[in-house]
Amino acid sequence: MFALIRRGVALRASTCLPVPVPILRGQISQLHNHAEAVAEMPEVPPITGPPPTEEPFWRKIPWWSNVSESDFLSYRWGIANTIQPHKLRNFLGSVLPDEVPDDQHEGKMQTRDDLISDVFKGISHASMSTRITPYIMSRIDWNDPRHDPLFRQFIPLRSRMLPDHPELTMDSLGERKDSPVPGLVHRYPDKALFLPVSVCPTYCMFCTRSYAIGGDTSTVHKESFKPTRRRWEKCFSYIEGQPGLHDIVVSGGDSYYLEPDQLHEIGERLISMPNIRRFRFASKGLAVAPGRFLDDGDGWFAALVDISNAAKRAGKSVALHTHINHPNEISWITELASQRLLKEGVTVRNQTVLLRGVNDDVETMSTLIRKLADNNISPYYVYQCDMVESIEHLRTPLQTILDLESRIRGTIAGFAMPQFVVDLPQGGGKRLACSHLSYDRETGVSRYMAPALTRGNKENKVYEYFDPIDCLPVRPAEPCD
Ligand code: SF4
Repeated sequence: MFALIRRGVALRASTCLPVPVPILRGQISQLHNHAEAVAEMPEVPPITGPPPTEEPFWRKIPWWSNVSESDFLSYRWGIANTIQPHKLRNFLGSVLPDEVPDDQHEGKMQTRDDLISDVFKGISHASMSTRITPYIMSRIDWNDPRHDPLFRQFIPLRSRMLPDHPELTMDSLGERKDSPVPGLVHRYPDKALFLPVSVCPTYCMFCTRSYAIGGDTSTVHKESFKPTRRRWEKCFSYIEGQPGLHDIVVSGGDSYYLEPDQLHEIGERLISMPNIRRFRFASKGLAVAPGRFLDDGDGWFAALVDISNAAKRAGKSVALHTHINHPNEISWITELASQRLLKEGVTVRNQTVLLRGVNDDVETMSTLIRKLADNNISPYYVYQCDMVESIEHLRTPLQTILDLESRIRGTIAGFAMPQFVVDLPQGGGKRLACSHLSYDRETGVSRYMAPALTRGNKENKVYEYFDPIDCLPVRPAEPCD
């Protein structure tokens, strides 16, 4: 099947029947609307752009050196081989060289044993569990993991953590206060967030929903959202009873953790509600396990396409919202998956989180935005990192997002330019980062208002975002012991 996709034969996901649609890689620019040109064109040529370099990059990992392409792309294989703490020590022992460069002491090295010990001390202080797909593990540079942008997002190091700003909280967006029923957040006038599950294939250290997502950690007891019909029914009833609600975000956790029939159930239910005009499934799947979009042994992709098409027939819209933070997360597998989504007419938008040492420079962020656009993934949002406990080292000052927006705007078409936003602490919703009422760079405090949000006595409320303490001009960094 994968060979068919590469040769330019798309498969209709809902039926798995081959449809002779040529892949569009590098081909669009050659197509002209001029009638004569079309008449003279003998046949649409096959792929003309450079073929993807289909390097089996996972084979550099000793544990997976003999894993076939079809196994690596299979979601079932990926989940069975996901790395969690009980496997992590042996995994690290197998991939790490004797010493790795130390990012905190230029020119110095850290031994493998010290790094592994640093990781496990980090895990015992982190707010999120550790779970990482083979795809992500295969994209990390294990000869220099401390500088690697993927390692930095998913594997905690105690030596890198900083004392929390006193304003950091576990539920930094105040979601629980805006939840009329468990697992449903109603903050905006016309939009609600439905959380059908609270698990993900890979856990991000900086998760906004650290209060609920994943298993309990040494420091956090999680408020989990079980995928039970009873709980979902309460959420559906609430949505149906609110005529002002038109837009639903189905998130979690990760929609990737829903079974295909659960995806169908949620999609069909939302399509049937007269008040709902649009909804999106939020999933980090394209970033952490993109092979699933090519895996016809798994029904998730087909279910997504079916729902997208059913919504169109009902005059409604469905999108997939993904979460890619660094260009290294995008491989030839992601590119094929994105092309397949494009051919099936699924709208895909991306939400990036701005993270210190990961994507907080112009070159990385520009490359990411361009790669997303080239893969027909709309670079929808870049978020200022939320004020969540235990991730002070990953947050940037507000000035960083302001500078990035200023330097990148104008380098790419406006429709491919993301909105650089702050999701206001304690429930103010998303506001353009540059729309602050004030920003005191000495204290690191920026203030915003959100006049459209009036639910929960929020009229005239002023929301504050706080820069990381170690970035303040008067408070130098204090490394953790
Ligand atoms: S995938 Fe989303 S919900 Fe899951 S841990 Fe990452 S940020 Fe949180």
